[in-house]
Amino acid sequence: MDRRHFLKSSLVLGAGMAVSPLLPSCVGGTYAANEVSELPSMRFDVIVAGGGTAGVLAAIAAARTGAKTALIEWKGYTGGIITEGGTALHSFFNIWKPYPGVAKKQLVKGIPQEIIDRLIKVGGCAGHVEMETSYDYDSVCTAIDTEMYKLVTMQMIREAGVYMALNTMLCGAVMAGERIEGVIVESRAGREVLYAKSFVDSTGYGDLCAYAGARFTVPNDYKVANSMGIANVDMNRYYDFLKDNNALGQIARGSYDGLDSQLVRLGTNNKNLPTEFVKGLKDLSVATITTTVHKDYLMFIKCGYDLPTSPLNRDEVSDAEVQIRINQQKAIELYRKYIPGFEKAFISRTNPSLCIRRARCIECDYDLSNEDITNAIHFDDEVFLYGFHDSAPKYSVKNGGAYGFPYRCSCVKNVDNLYAIGMMVTSEHSAHMSTRNTVSCMAQGQAFGTAAALCALKGIGSRELVYTDLREQLIAGGVYLE
Ligand SMILES: Cc1cc2nc3c(=O)[nH]c(=O)nc-3n(C[C@H](O)[C@H](O)[C@H](O)COP(=O)(O)OP(=O)(O)OC[C@H]3O[C@@H](n4cnc5c(N)ncnc54)[C@H](O)[C@@H]3O)c2cc1C
Repeated sequence: MDRRHFLKSSLVLGAGMAVSPLLPSCVGGTYAANEVSELPSMRFDVIVAGGGTAGVLAAIAAARTGAKTALIEWKGYTGGIITEGGTALHSFFNIWKPYPGVAKKQLVKGIPQEIIDRLIKVGGCAGHVEMETSYDYDSVCTAIDTEMYKLVTMQMIREAGVYMALNTMLCGAVMAGERIEGVIVESRAGREVLYAKSFVDSTGYGDLCAYAGARFTVPNDYKVANSMGIANVDMNRYYDFLKDNNALGQIARGSYDGLDSQLVRLGTNNKNLPTEFVKGLKDLSVATITTTVHKDYLMFIKCGYDLPTSPLNRDEVSDAEVQIRINQQKAIELYRKYIPGFEKAFISRTNPSLCIRRARCIECDYDLSNEDITNAIHFDDEVFLYGFHDSAPKYSVKNGGAYGFPYRCSCVKNVDNLYAIGMMVTSEHSAHMSTRNTVSCMAQGQAFGTAAALCALKGIGSRELVYTDLREQLIAGGVYLE
């Protein structure tokens, strides 16, 4: 297909899309099978689009269930925002600490826990350490080394036998009515079509859903961000300074680099820090809370930026990329000037591009509400349990309990063989403050990678899968379901 034809079909598709009127309506390509028959092709059972937080798990789970699986990822590594945005992985456990008499319970196990076990072995995680303060927000802190996370997950994907198409962008869907037949990908090897029976969209941005004609909104309800790593910090002097100024916030300690009782999580009480420093960071939208698993190193310091209209607007995003880097430099200068222990600190890592907590929100068969979450509701078709809410203590899961994540939440409306997972599901902002967190995304990955494999192997669509078959397979894969 030539470029003119590609653009024409993109525009026709865009005209029917539920995009904000402020956005360009062209969202990419949709094709009929006869339009792509000349392209080089490959065939799989399951295609997972996006090898980030959720997609890694989906690909491993699908391959372990016996499906011939391909993972398409446009960066040269896996992990997505788990390696680029977050501070701690929220959360493998219920929030038991603020509720006397409530037992500590690990809710998310299975492949997500396997990743943690592998990371611990290579010094890339201090494990699930208990919070000493602010435990009504999260009762544990699971901090990771971002680089080890990339390595460990790539090794696990390879061991599972997944075909990994890295540095490859998904840029279209081949449709037969409401069924996806294949996806169009582009890389330096050229344009190709990859066919499969079941599909998982874990691109974060819902690119495959959009190409497949799913309905979506673009709420633009979070800042975009770039998280930097800061090295050469004298942590002892930093900690003493915070303590002396009554400015300590969240604290968790664990073992790393052969040393016990090291700071894994460190937050600040900004009210008591130098006014110029606090005002400066506020103007730059910098959050001081951080985690680390290495001596004298802050793994994440987030720098945010409000986009005028949409994370899908390329020009606004380009402006933000530049401005955030300028702001990161100003932030490190503020740290050096005002905070003891940072005199020789420098930015040792930034994300290759900015990230966001959500872009497109995809319409699925069920939309989990904040009421479902805070009331700890269970469902007949739940695929994992979860207990963390990022707005705690304002909203939290009742009595330190857990809610179920229903299967229907990821079945994309009007598409027969596609699951949407990760930050693109759950429309209500307050509910999304729970479901979008890393450990929920990881659990969604295992659940829907398994489901996609079962559908492909049985030759059925997502709505024909018998729940008990999926549940049995999930339990066999170590998923905790009461
Ligand atoms: C700044 C920030 C701070 C956060 N802090 C925390 C925290 O402290 N704790 C916590 O638990 N959660 C936190 N979150 C939330 C959490 O990190 C994200 O919601 C979650 O990681 C999203 O996972 P995902 O799989 O949906 O997307 P991602 O992890 O972004 O994965 C999407 C993947 O798809 C790839 N991709 C995208 N489009 C295409 C395409 N067209 N073709 C091929 N590949 C594609 C991307 O490269 C990426 O690898 C934070 C998020 C942000 C942005």
